[in-house]
Amino acid sequence: MTATHCPYCSLQCGMRVTRRGPAVPEIGEWAEFPVNRGALCRKGWSAAGLYAGRERLTTPLLRDRATGELTPVGWDEALDTIADRLSALRAERGPDAVGVFGGGGLTNEKAYQLGKLARVALGTSQIDYNGRWCMSSAATAGTRAFGLDRGLPFPLADIEQADVVVLVGSNLAETMPPAARHLDALRERGGQVVVIDPRRTATADRADVFVQPVPGFDLALALGVLHLLVAGGLVDESYVADRTSGWADVRDSVGAWWPERVERVTGVPAPEVRALAALLGGAERVVVLTARGAEQHATGSDTVLAWINVALALGMCGTPGAGYGCLTGQGNGQGGREHGQKADQLPGYRMIDDPVAREHVASVWGVPADSLPGKGRSAYEMLDALGTDDGPSALLVFGSNIVVSAPNATRVTARLEALDLLVVADVVLSETAAIADVVLPVTQWAEETGTMTNLEGRVILRQRAVSPPAGVRSDLDVISGLATRLGSPVPFATDPEEVFSELGRASAGGKADYAGITYARIRDEAGVFWPCPSPGHAGTPRMFLDSFAHPDGRARFHVVEHRGPAEVPDADYPVHLTTGRVLAQYQSGAQTRRVRELPDSGPFVELHPMLAGRIGAVDGAPVSVTTRRGSMTASARVVTTIRPDTVFVPFHWVGANRLTNDALDPASRMPEFKVCAAAVTA
Ligand code: SF4
Repeated sequence: MTATHCPYCSLQCGMRVTRRGPAVPEIGEWAEFPVNRGALCRKGWSAAGLYAGRERLTTPLLRDRATGELTPVGWDEALDTIADRLSALRAERGPDAVGVFGGGGLTNEKAYQLGKLARVALGTSQIDYNGRWCMSSAATAGTRAFGLDRGLPFPLADIEQADVVVLVGSNLAETMPPAARHLDALRERGGQVVVIDPRRTATADRADVFVQPVPGFDLALALGVLHLLVAGGLVDESYVADRTSGWADVRDSVGAWWPERVERVTGVPAPEVRALAALLGGAERVVVLTARGAEQHATGSDTVLAWINVALALGMCGTPGAGYGCLTGQGNGQGGREHGQKADQLPGYRMIDDPVAREHVASVWGVPADSLPGKGRSAYEMLDALGTDDGPSALLVFGSNIVVSAPNATRVTARLEALDLLVVADVVLSETAAIADVVLPVTQWAEETGTMTNLEGRVILRQRAVSPPAGVRSDLDVISGLATRLGSPVPFATDPEEVFSELGRASAGGKADYAGITYARIRDEAGVFWPCPSPGHAGTPRMFLDSFAHPDGRARFHVVEHRGPAEVPDADYPVHLTTGRVLAQYQSGAQTRRVRELPDSGPFVELHPMLAGRIGAVDGAPVSVTTRRGSMTASARVVTTIRPDTVFVPFHWVGANRLTNDALDPASRMPEFKVCAAAVTA
């Protein structure tokens, strides 16, 4: 029986895996693991189903130039072919002819080695990952406000101590059900839960206060709340004076956001705005948590900053049982953004344009600092440049199903098809692998060991519990094999613990400092919170208690302006479209759609009875949703829980992201997944 963690979301619930055969696991509870205390959602309980499918890839595939079909080949032929073609492209067009695309589900070790592969073996600046589309707005805002980005700067269980928890754009009860028990515990204590969402979700059903703005207008709501806190004398002036800077400008900037104006902009009735501000202003401890609903916008980082401004004005950040946090989405959404697969970063959350950071990381890697490339394009911008004159001609994809998950997916798929070489390392023939030139079958979850960093900044250890199928290699083996064939000047370790040790040295002294964390400590201590700079350091469960991470120790207020969505409804596209998740599926569905125990009834279009009546839609019958980028048809779900001016489509299947808008946040480069203008027809 092996103590390990769930293959899916950022809660990284602890579970025990028992081997029932060479490659057949059975899931059991790990009651002592503090984050979930034995509770799992149905995705976690059915995770063994990942091993029951017949679709597992067990041999490399190479596209036959004569027939156009993917054909089984040996590992040497596959890796030699990739290395030869990459070398030729680099010789012809320079190192940036090759791009690398990673994922927020990769272990820390894989993310680290992928960044090193790009910077050392390929010498390319063109690397980014799908986490750019997940947590980057909160990461950008956290860095600007606090000087450091850790999704939750406190253990999740701390929210039970709050008097009010505000969830902005989070459907916690469906995305990570075991976390919802903290909300229940808080309410049993007499605390209150506020949910802000355009849909009355399962989480909203458990809330004391439900606020339903038009999608894309959370920022204006935060401005209105802050206006009322100022007007009501509810700002914690001594905290603001002692621990922050920039308040006077922010205070002045919200002067015109009176409740009636907020109502006109957001659709939230003025009395509800007043009640929300009074609730927050009267509470001793408030936690504000944002998630993708607030963050996946072209204004996402400013929206998060607006809510951080509220939390700072209330004196909550760095206060026990209170504060601001981001509910990270992907399994390693936190660690995946810390160790070098982001276009502008080196391991340890160091910036790639910082000369000191370059020297340190280069010395760990054993290469000259000036050999490291500079900052590359963000995820969408790199994909949009594929196959163009100055964009990459080849792309290596690890742990990402771009065809389903990219915004404006039809355009992105066309860019992938314009490449000279697309290589995908995956477990199954995902929609992206299906259009690749070379597909590499890799190990998954319980077949391999590696660390993840959960939404709290707790570094945990997934342990190997079953044997991988014959013919499959780990991503670390693949990366090492490619690096060797590409003539890397330094070796690439393949043992995960050895890679983690190197990662620790590379991160030493950085913001996300893992230098004092070892596999043994993680096992003994049920995870270790970063920063943990030395073996004798206890780790840091709670941050900012004495000081924020800016050089002067103060948090920063930031003036942010309401801009609204990049697209608003008009005569041709008269409703808002928003996208999101369902309980039984995870991300692009490449894993969960293949688990038989998880219901998969395909995509649907959720709409209000008033809208359904207007267009003649009937529950269960097909409706079409069209935006300026594409169209999809799915069955209608007529519900009263959504705004009459909004439709919702889940994104786990091909279709939803053919509709979504690729407008980018200017700071985080987050696409506007969560809102665009659409037309719906029956
Ligand atoms: S909440 Fe997340 S980590 Fe926990 S069992 Fe469900 S999918 Fe897995």
